[in-house]
Amino acid sequence: MTESTNATPRFAQTSFETDFSDQANLMFSTVQPAQLLEPKMLAVSEYRNEFPELQKVDFFQATQAQFWSGDPAHTPAPIALVYSGHQFGVWAGQLGDGRAMTLGETPDQNRQTQEIQLKGAGPTPYSRFADGRAVLRSSIREFLCSEAMHALGVPTTRVLTLTGAKTAVIRENVEEAAVVSRVAPSFLRFGSFEHYFHNQMLEQLKALCDFLLKHHFPELQDSRNPAASLLSEITKRSAQLVAQWQAVGFCHGVLNTDNMSVLGLTLDYGPFGFMEAFDAGYICNHSDYKGRYAWQNQPGIVQWNCFALGQTFVPLIGSTDETKSVLDVFKPTYDMAMRAQWQLKLGLTEPLADDANLIDAMFLLMQANHCDWTLWFRTLAQFNENDPSQDFLLLDLCIDRAQCQSWLDQYRTRLKLQGLPFIERQVAMNQINPKYVLRNYLAQQAIERAEKGDMSEFHRLHQVLSRPFDEQPENSVYAALPPDWAKTLEVSCSS
Ligand code: AMP
Ligand code: MG
Repeated sequence: MTESTNATPRFAQTSFETDFSDQANLMFSTVQPAQLLEPKMLAVSEYRNEFPELQKVDFFQATQAQFWSGDPAHTPAPIALVYSGHQFGVWAGQLGDGRAMTLGETPDQNRQTQEIQLKGAGPTPYSRFADGRAVLRSSIREFLCSEAMHALGVPTTRVLTLTGAKTAVIRENVEEAAVVSRVAPSFLRFGSFEHYFHNQMLEQLKALCDFLLKHHFPELQDSRNPAASLLSEITKRSAQLVAQWQAVGFCHGVLNTDNMSVLGLTLDYGPFGFMEAFDAGYICNHSDYKGRYAWQNQPGIVQWNCFALGQTFVPLIGSTDETKSVLDVFKPTYDMAMRAQWQLKLGLTEPLADDANLIDAMFLLMQANHCDWTLWFRTLAQFNENDPSQDFLLLDLCIDRAQCQSWLDQYRTRLKLQGLPFIERQVAMNQINPKYVLRNYLAQQAIERAEKGDMSEFHRLHQVLSRPFDEQPENSVYAALPPDWAKTLEVSCSS
C-alpha cells in the first residue's frame, strides 16, 4: 500500500470516551500533550508487528518522534481518566491519571481492541502538584520490563515506543524527559472504582461496572448477578497474577490500589525489582521503609487490594455478605495457582502430599544461603537424580553445602518416585524457569549508556529478554550473578 510517509497514526476514539461522552470532566478530561524539545525515537518494540492498522505506513520511523512524544498539532483530543486509591494502606483520594493520556484505540491482529497511551506527555487536570513528565531512566525500565514480563508469560500492559527529548525534568537531579507509548485493552484500575464509590458517585460507579462487563467481560453479562461475577473474575485474575509474580521473583514495589489493573495485568512499572539473592523479605522500593510491599507480602497485599475493590462492589452486588463470599475466592485461587507454579518449577509431574515439605525445606535452604533466585531454579533443571556427579552445580550456589546436599537427597528421592526421564524433565523445566530476567543492574547499565546517547546496550538487553527461556549461550553474561556494585543500587519512587 502506498500512503504518504508524513501520515501520522489516527486511532479511533476509545469506547470509554464514546460511552461516557456525557460524563466529560466527571469521569475523564480531554487533554493536550505538552510538546517536548527535540524529540527523538529511541526504540520501537517487536509488538508493533501485531498491529495490522499500523503497518499500512511506517508509523514507527524516526520522523514520527513528534507524534509518539505527544504532538498537540497531530494528536486530536487525547483523554485522561480520573481515579483515586489507597497508597500504602491509607486512603489517598484522587491520584490520576496525572501523566498518562489515552490517544485512542486500535485493533491488534487478534481483533482485540487495544488502547494506546502516552506516559509523560504533559500534565493533566489530575496531575496535582506534579509535572506530567517521566524521565528517560524510568521510561527505559518500563519499556524493558513490560516486554520482558510478556516474554515470561506474565500478563502485563505492553509498550510500543520510547521517545527521548532534550526537555529538562527535575527529580533528585536534573534529567532528560522521555515518553513511552503503552498499550492495554483497558487501563481501568481498582482505583477507578474506588474513585466513584468514595465520592458517592453511585450512578458513575454502576455505569463503570456495566462498561467493563459490556466491553471486557461480555461472557459474564447474563449471569445471575453480573457485578458479583465481575468481582469474582477480577479477584481470581489478581490471585493468579500475584502467583506468577512470586514464581518469577518479581516484586512490584508500589502495590497501591491505583496500580492494580481490573484486567489482571501487571500495571505501572516503577521501582520494581527481580529477586536475586533470596530473601523472602526483599523490598525493591527504597522508599518503602516498612516493607509493606516486600516480596513475601505481595499475595496478602493483593488480597487486601481486592478487599478495597470489594468494598466498592457492595452497592453493585446488593449484599455485603455476598460480596464477602465472592472475595473468599482469592485464597483458594492463589493457593492452587501457587502450588501449580512450584510444582512446575521443580519439574514434578503430579502433586504428592509431601511436596509441601520439600518446597518449604527448599525455601529454608535458599533463605539461609541467599541463593540467587533465577540461577537456582534454572540450575535445578540440570540436577540429575541418577548422576550425583552433577550435584556440584547446585552445591556451588550455597554456602552451607551440607544443608544443600541434604535437600538434594530429598529432591532426588522425590524425582525417582515419578520416573520421568531426565531429559524430558529438563526440557519442561527450562520452559518455566527463565535463564534471563531484568536484573536491576542490567537495566542500570542500559540506562547509563542511554543517558550518554548510546542505545546499543538497551537494544541488546531488549533482544535477550525477548527469549528468556532460550539458552542463548552467546548472551550468558546476562544470566550471571550481579556484580558487587549492584548491591548498592537503590530504586526509589522518583520517576
Ligand atoms: P504512582 O505511585 O507512580 O502510581 O503515582 C501515583 C499517581 O501520581 C499516578 O497515578 C499519577 O497520576 C501521579 N503522578 C506520578 N508522577 C507524576 C508526574 N510526574 N506528573 C503528574 N502526575 C504524576
Ligand atoms: Mg500508578
